[in-house]
Amino acid sequence: MKFSEMLYKRPDVNAYINRVNKLIEKVKNAKSYEEQLSAHKEFTALSDKISSMSTIAHIRNTMNTEDDFYDREKDFFDENSPLIENSTAEFYRAFVSSDYRKQLEEKLGKLLFENAELELKAIDPVIIPDLQEENRLVSEYIKLIASAQLDFDGKKLNLSQLRLYMESPDRKTRKDAYKKRTEFFEENKVKLDDIYDKLVNVRTNMAKKLGFENYVELGYIRMGRNCYGPKEVSAFREQVKKHMVPLSKKLNEKQRERLGLKKLTFIDSLLYFKDGNPKPKGTPEEIFKAGQKMYGELSSETSEFFRFMLENELLDCLSRKGKASGGYMTYIPDYKSPFIFANFNGTSGDIDVLTHEAGHALNGYLAKNIEISEYRTATMETCEVHSMSMEFFTIPWMKMFFGDRVEEYKYMHLASAVNFIPYGCAVDEFQHEVYMNPDMTPNERKNLWKRIESEYQPDLDYEDDPFFGNGGRWQAQTHIYSAPFYYIDYCLAQTCALQFRNLMSEDYKAAWEKYLSFSKKAGTMTFTELLKTSKLRSPMDEGCVRDVCKGSEEAIEQIEI
Ligand code: ZN
Repeated sequence: MKFSEMLYKRPDVNAYINRVNKLIEKVKNAKSYEEQLSAHKEFTALSDKISSMSTIAHIRNTMNTEDDFYDREKDFFDENSPLIENSTAEFYRAFVSSDYRKQLEEKLGKLLFENAELELKAIDPVIIPDLQEENRLVSEYIKLIASAQLDFDGKKLNLSQLRLYMESPDRKTRKDAYKKRTEFFEENKVKLDDIYDKLVNVRTNMAKKLGFENYVELGYIRMGRNCYGPKEVSAFREQVKKHMVPLSKKLNEKQRERLGLKKLTFIDSLLYFKDGNPKPKGTPEEIFKAGQKMYGELSSETSEFFRFMLENELLDCLSRKGKASGGYMTYIPDYKSPFIFANFNGTSGDIDVLTHEAGHALNGYLAKNIEISEYRTATMETCEVHSMSMEFFTIPWMKMFFGDRVEEYKYMHLASAVNFIPYGCAVDEFQHEVYMNPDMTPNERKNLWKRIESEYQPDLDYEDDPFFGNGGRWQAQTHIYSAPFYYIDYCLAQTCALQFRNLMSEDYKAAWEKYLSFSKKAGTMTFTELLKTSKLRSPMDEGCVRDVCKGSEEAIEQIEI
């Protein structure tokens, strides 16, 4: 069904809770495991229905944040989603305590129960007011960032539209654009500090109420992490410091030489080539057409998938006034439809949407028929492997988008993949420190960021920028506000995607088959089990980052620019 034809109706939350309560009774009074299985099936249908409504409302709200109707629906879900989640949790609480658990595990697999037990640790009615407060604060941050209406180049621009100017080949334009961005953050400095401070407090409160020492453990549970903890992540970050940071420094030095600058500063970091970064050619329509050709040729699975997306209006990629910033992929269970949201701005980022978000969406499409709904989605780092690897699998078609600048695109894409990982690790280490020391003042948090940033990006120079140069960079990173500890996932995934890239240069077809089978398994296994079954190395294992760096550096050197 076309997205525009999908019906939205505000769900009756009380009726939902009542029906779930009946199913909980059914589970508790069951005389056989079959009865419980049937309750589970009914529960899945109910939960798919309500999540379809909330997803449709979310998509339509982000498509036009000025539409009052969906703005109210968003508030409605902000207010009610903790109640819905609580009811869901109650169902699982009854389900995992079943006397027939052994038989149920045989039918449904152990992982479903392990994941549910983990999630239950993070849920208790006593934190519902905190969750509601957290939702309100996150929405406030997102609204604040989206409210940017910057006067630039005779236009009114939002932050994502400004980005085009931040990678301008003209240094003066870049400088002005960065200055504009800084002005916006300076103006909103107090609000940004205040929202974050409240978020740290409310999250710490929740953790304490649930019996945790601080928010770190709870944050990991809320990310559904079932196979590694802070210790393994910290080991990964150490490897990055040792191997990826020096490589990234080398790449920055080459960038400085290419740009012919005495010194590379933060306003040059997005510009890879003196004449400007390679930009995709053609209108958005032509880009979609080329995308269709690309996925048509890549494999029969991708061909069918992309046709489905286009035919059902499941892509909204053009930037418009009032549209929320950023990009995401989501899934509407009742219509078995992935949805891709983005803000095209004429940069190569537009093509990343077609590859990255499409990698997520393909996974949604491939996993739609996994019978047990809990296994249709994987944990976030696994999902990012789907998307970030797709960026590399589609490289052979990039000539269609970048023409004679395709080699430069390849270079920029690979170099930015490498450069990203140290930054992402800084975001992660920062959050560990923040939540372990929740009483820090906003100023202390900025100093902390400065220190961590200097370890991961030692050559970063902010000139005399009053906001970003004073430890404010993290306040432009949505995830730090909206989804704590969801950032290392990108770094772990990028490391896996770079592994796939190394495999591709040996045997593309074999690497693709491996990828397809990895993606098809979706959430049926934990991240580390998936890697093991696919004979990929875990980024947290000693030596993995070193080898990935070696392969990437060799590949970068071979690109003729
Ligand atoms: Zn992604």
